[in-house]
Amino acid sequence: RPRAELRQVDTVCPYCGVGCALTFNVDDERQAIAYADGRPQPGSHSRLCVKGRYGWDYSFSEQRLATPLIRRESSYPKGPLSSDVRGDEGRRRKPGGLVDYDEVMPHFREATWDEALDLVATRLKEIHAASGPGSIAGFGSAKCSNEEAYLFQKLIRAGFRTNNVDHCTRLCHASSVAALFEGVGSGAVSTTYGDVINADLAILAGTNTTANHPVASSFFKQARRRGTKLIVVDPRRERIADHADVYCQIKPGTDVAFYNGVMHEVIRLGLVDREFIASRTSNYGELAKVLREYTPERVAQITGIDADTIRLVARLWGEANAGVIYWGMGISQHTTGTDNARCLIAMCAITGNVGRHGTGLHPLRGQNNVQGASDAGLIPMFYPDYQPVDADGVRERFEAAWGRELDANPGLTVTEIVASALQGGVRGMYMMGENPFLSDPNINKVRKALSALNFLVVQDVFLTETAEFADVILPATTFMEKDGTYTNTDRRVQLGRKVLEPRGDARPDWQIIQDIANRIGLPMDYSHPSEVFDELVSVMPNYGGLHYDNLGLTGKLYPNADPLHSDGTVVLFDERFGTDDGLAHLVPAEWLPAKELPSDDYPFILNTGRLLEHWHTGSMTRRSFALDAIQPEPHVFMNPGDAEEMGIGDGDFVRVSSRRGTIELRVRVSHRDTPGTCFIPFHFREAAANLLTIDEIDPMGKIPEFKFCAVRIERA
Ligand code: SF4
Repeated sequence: RPRAELRQVDTVCPYCGVGCALTFNVDDERQAIAYADGRPQPGSHSRLCVKGRYGWDYSFSEQRLATPLIRRESSYPKGPLSSDVRGDEGRRRKPGGLVDYDEVMPHFREATWDEALDLVATRLKEIHAASGPGSIAGFGSAKCSNEEAYLFQKLIRAGFRTNNVDHCTRLCHASSVAALFEGVGSGAVSTTYGDVINADLAILAGTNTTANHPVASSFFKQARRRGTKLIVVDPRRERIADHADVYCQIKPGTDVAFYNGVMHEVIRLGLVDREFIASRTSNYGELAKVLREYTPERVAQITGIDADTIRLVARLWGEANAGVIYWGMGISQHTTGTDNARCLIAMCAITGNVGRHGTGLHPLRGQNNVQGASDAGLIPMFYPDYQPVDADGVRERFEAAWGRELDANPGLTVTEIVASALQGGVRGMYMMGENPFLSDPNINKVRKALSALNFLVVQDVFLTETAEFADVILPATTFMEKDGTYTNTDRRVQLGRKVLEPRGDARPDWQIIQDIANRIGLPMDYSHPSEVFDELVSVMPNYGGLHYDNLGLTGKLYPNADPLHSDGTVVLFDERFGTDDGLAHLVPAEWLPAKELPSDDYPFILNTGRLLEHWHTGSMTRRSFALDAIQPEPHVFMNPGDAEEMGIGDGDFVRVSSRRGTIELRVRVSHRDTPGTCFIPFHFREAAANLLTIDEIDPMGKIPEFKFCAVRIERA
């Protein structure tokens, strides 16, 4: 059909934190989408990657949940019912590679919405009454809108009087947020990725932007062509390293040592910004004392980067007029994630590289709404807008706003909730749009925890692996079947608009939350997400000035978004930091080795992550025709030298084992991985990478170690 006969709907890509603006061209006669186009917006410039352009047809999948489901009385014990996630199924190519509906569905029966919702409310209330508020927990989702995140945490906090509510930021940038709060008093980015164009020098640390933030990566490459120098620091030679002026292939888990070594040299060369340090930071003396021990020669031994390269990076960073650091999960997903981020904060602060265009700190957010879900309070220690649950006066403010008595203590995080369920603490769970049975570390442990729950309700678009443990499954709409707002990695709040009517009886998440709230005695009466947005803005000072009707086609950057004119604030901290005293707090960090080092039995270091074409546990992208066709099956990426030494060729099957599990999958020989390391994406149920990973966590950010554990590789 010609474009003129199609209906155009402007919305936002549902995948990564870049949040590209897109337009769907809808064929109303066929209730179908003809194609998607990028559209102008300061953060995406009409660009889309393969996921945004082709990855939306999962919405039309035959496998969509369309009716509430209740587990049959006879169907116990719970657990993965179909093609169990044993890890040895990598040889079997299953279209979509996902849950076998024919095996699973007989364990559930269809129900009306009233029956399913009544059962959810009754069982959660019973558990709450019998075992107390701490026995209830909720996992929300960064795939949902700001309004849904806000309502979900309000339901758990005000409805069940517990702060046991968290979401996938715990597995993503929790350590970055912890370090940023401590260091600069705000968990959000201090500048946008588009601001890289104003930088003399950008450091890209532990980020595979080409795969994980493809359109942001196009901004980095464009800036380089216009004169910005790029330094890439990553143990894996990701594609962005091919564009770097300096590439540092550090040994895995040595970030703290590397950045301490760079700062040691910056200080030695006298390239610190003394005025900035004196007027805008605290604790520089303690930092400098620790850095004294990190000579380039010592750091070279730890990181594998020669001392001259460390000196070169220090000189380039120290001499740059405007330097900016972008980082990804190679920094955050470590047991030392908070320390890694502390070093990056110190790198910027001691050189005065914060608070001006082309400078600053930017943890590149993973999911399209992980920034917004965190802002809206899906975090156990913070109410909306990062207001601590245990700070003086804050709880009282929210009690007044919500009309309920609230818990005075921080709740449990994702990883702590799993541990609590195993010990009989958490008994009832509400899971909205999360799939921890594939996404969390050491999933054999997650299996035991989910099986141990007395009651689990899963709300999702598809029958996920986690839904196989559920007592009740509630069918939700996809992003294109509802209205809502989403906040991208830049702090840009954008409108997602409804494109099509919901499938079957599926309902928007915000309506389902409201239905449950009303049944447990927490009145909610919103008729549209815009009403939730108004309430959310009223309790979130940083969102002040934002209005649902004035977000327009391009959205606005908080804070200080003028509702009528301004695009919002690009650069934070031009005059003071967000800390109580307005200073950047410099926190020294000592390098510590990873928790599980290679041994004779497990000689390889495993790194996990994502591919360009897939998204998290694959529930959406593996049901998208084009994306599944490009990347249909799991692989372990190995260095050519290691593969040759072991007599393994590209495409051969191998068995990868850790102390926690074993998977079988094909090898992809890759010059991007160093000898002694391997990389496995975590999208694939039939060779679930998280059967192997270790569930050790960062003590402050509580984020698990997804980037370093010891494995063995054998021919299968
Ligand atoms: Fe979507 Fe991210 Fe790709 Fe943009 S870069 S189209 S937001 S996946």
